[in-house]
Amino acid sequence: MAPALLNTPPLAGTDTAADTPAELVAAEPVVAEPLVPLAIRVIRSPKRHKTAAAKVLPDCIEVRVPAGMTTEAEAEMVAKLVARVERKRAAKAGPIDLADRAAKLARRYDLPLPVSITWAEQNDRWGSCTSSRGTIRISTRLARVPTWVLDAVIVHELAHLCEPNHSTAFWALANRYPRQERASGFLEAMSQGHSDPCHIV
Ligand SMILES: [Zn+2]
Repeated sequence: MAPALLNTPPLAGTDTAADTPAELVAAEPVVAEPLVPLAIRVIRSPKRHKTAAAKVLPDCIEVRVPAGMTTEAEAEMVAKLVARVERKRAAKAGPIDLADRAAKLARRYDLPLPVSITWAEQNDRWGSCTSSRGTIRISTRLARVPTWVLDAVIVHELAHLCEPNHSTAFWALANRYPRQERASGFLEAMSQGHSDPCHIV
C-alpha cells in the first residue's frame, strides 16, 4: 500500500461548484449531484381508510396514512412510498455517470477499472462485485445520498476487484478512501441499523 494515498483528499464532486464560475461548471462531465433526502412528514388522516398517498412539498415529503393504522403498518407504508418518491426525484434530477465517477476514483486511489459499473435495484445491499468478470452493481438507493458516501461504496467495490473478500488486505485498499468509515456510519443510520453488507461473487 502506498501510504501517501491515505492522505489523498476525496474527489471533488459538484460539492465545490459554488466556488467555480458557471461556465466551468457547465463544462464539467455529467456527474449529477445526488439528491439530499427530504424530511418526511406523516399525517394520520381520518378521511383515509386503507391507502396512503405521498407528495413532494418544497421542504418535505408529506405522507397521508389512514388514521386507524397500526404503527408498524404505518412505518412500512411510509418507507415504501418515500422510497418510490425518492426514486422518481433521482430519475428527474438526471443520471449520475457511474462509469466516469469510478474511472476518476480508480485513478486517484490506484485501483483497477471495472469492466462495467451499473445501477441496480437491490434493496438488500449497497453494492455488489463479480470480481471474475470485473463487473460492479450499485444500489439505486445510493442515487440520493451525498457524493462522498456514493464514492465510498464505489471505492469499496473497486477494492473487491483486487481482493474479493473482506480481509485486512481488502480494507487496506478500501480505506485509501479517507471517509470510508464515516460513510459506513451514514449508511448504517440510513438503513436504520440493518446491516447492509455488499455482495461479492
Ligand atoms: Zn464488500
